[in-house]
Amino acid sequence: MKPISIIISKDGISKKYRYLIRGYLVEVLTVMHTDNKLIVCFPTMIKCKVGCAFCVSTKSTMQLKLTTDEMYSLIRSSEKDIPENIQRLYSAMGEGEPINNLTNVINLFTKLRNESESAKLALSTTGIDHKKLNKLLLQTEKLNVKIQYSLHSCLPYDLMPYRSKHNLEILNKHKLRVEYNVTLLNSINDSYDHANAIINSLSEGSRIKITPYNKHDGSKYDMSTKTNEFVDILRKSNKFNIEVYQTQGQDIKASCGQMTAIDIKETYGLK
Ligand code: SF4
Repeated sequence: MKPISIIISKDGISKKYRYLIRGYLVEVLTVMHTDNKLIVCFPTMIKCKVGCAFCVSTKSTMQLKLTTDEMYSLIRSSEKDIPENIQRLYSAMGEGEPINNLTNVINLFTKLRNESESAKLALSTTGIDHKKLNKLLLQTEKLNVKIQYSLHSCLPYDLMPYRSKHNLEILNKHKLRVEYNVTLLNSINDSYDHANAIINSLSEGSRIKITPYNKHDGSKYDMSTKTNEFVDILRKSNKFNIEVYQTQGQDIKASCGQMTAIDIKETYGLK
């Protein structure tokens, strides 16, 4: 598989690759970290119907599952110029909910694990419901896949379409490989009450990743201006391991929540 285009960020760290699959330009992001680690962020779907409020795919009415071979080819193509001795992190954090394409995603991770014991594997999930989340956690256990759970808030709020009260209990059993992702949106989920709800809901020692919001065209949300205050409240609880993520790839629209497949017929007026 060969990319149709490669867009490189101004700092040269991030590259967005576009590939033509089934009439769509599918995006893969690579990030070269300063600690000599390559992150390959790949999609599991073309479009996504899950409907998370602030995602660029929110309004999609269709979705197509990528096959194991398609995902594998995307990964191998986008990393092919990087020397083999560089540590890899293969991360299903591009477009799509991995639970909705679980068989193909597990087959892919099994293949990657069989080829390299040292490669790091990760995926991002909304959890859908506790039974599906439990299945995902069990099937990824032996493969040592890190789970990034899209938490964003512990208060009742319709940011995430699926919310199961049992999800946190299940995740807690796999605490060592789970990270809770909280994307802060201005005046939406960045208040004292939201921080406090996280303190009261997550167990001691949980890992939390705070990520900035990257606005995309048509979004009604903005990046929070209260990140420091929010993080301070969490830190003062002395309960969690907290990482504040600095966004990368923003100038090429390749940050979290900004990657999506492009329908070439619709985009170029051929439909
Ligand atoms: S965040 Fe992920 S699961 Fe949610 S709509 Fe976007 S692609 Fe789908």
